[in-house]
Amino acid sequence: MTRKKIIAGNWKMFTTVSAGVALATEINMGLQTRDLSNKKAIVIPPYTHIHAIINAVGANGNLGVGAQNCHQQKEGAYTGEISPVTLKEMGASYVIIGHSERRQYFNETEELLNAKIKAALAEGLTVIYCIGETLSQRESDTHFAVIEAQIKGGLEDISTEEMNNIILAYEPVWAIGTGKVASPAQAQEIHQFIRGLINAKYGNAVAKNICIQYGGSMKPENAAELLSQPDIDGGLIGGAALKAEQFLAIIDAA
Ligand code: PEP
Repeated sequence: MTRKKIIAGNWKMFTTVSAGVALATEINMGLQTRDLSNKKAIVIPPYTHIHAIINAVGANGNLGVGAQNCHQQKEGAYTGEISPVTLKEMGASYVIIGHSERRQYFNETEELLNAKIKAALAEGLTVIYCIGETLSQRESDTHFAVIEAQIKGGLEDISTEEMNNIILAYEPVWAIGTGKVASPAQAQEIHQFIRGLINAKYGNAVAKNICIQYGGSMKPENAAELLSQPDIDGGLIGGAALKAEQFLAIIDAA
């Protein structure tokens, strides 16, 4: 079976609302002339842009829209946080949980990420759950154990049925925003390992179905080779997602 390739652009804290609408509109225009039967494109702007972008590109068009994080509660006295209920109402369909920048700068633990995943799934959002090792973990040869712990902790008590709404993104931290990309063989080795973990926990049907994206300095120049690996089912793109031409070129490579 062939899994759909899912290409998602994580805009982080870049673009103003007007610049974000212009970027999404340009990407959306580019999608109109492409064959998307076996691929899906998603933009993941700052929360503040979601509503305006959906107004510009349409709620049920070719371009999916997501958020970069959400809180684990539906509502409450959590100043500055965003509820998954609000994201859903704004029209977001996806949410990234566990990006390494959230783990690193906001001390997000597996236990917290597991609660966020459950909260997002409860609102009908599809979760892009990020996992990946740091450079020192790879150098000390603990990367397989790190990834196993991230899968075990983040997906604790997530049912087989709920796995239909989970995308995994393997993002080696040493490759994010550094220009250092994992070699196709290095990435494939980990993706195969992750699929094996999912197979052991949820069985063959879920493992065969699940989308495992690669993230970390994916660009038009390296995308085709990465995306041709048997267990790499898409990309989570940072820097190259901020230029419509580059993002569309990665979609073409998928
Ligand atoms: C990311 O932030 O998820 C990412 C992969 O960034 P970049 O493509 O810039 O390395």
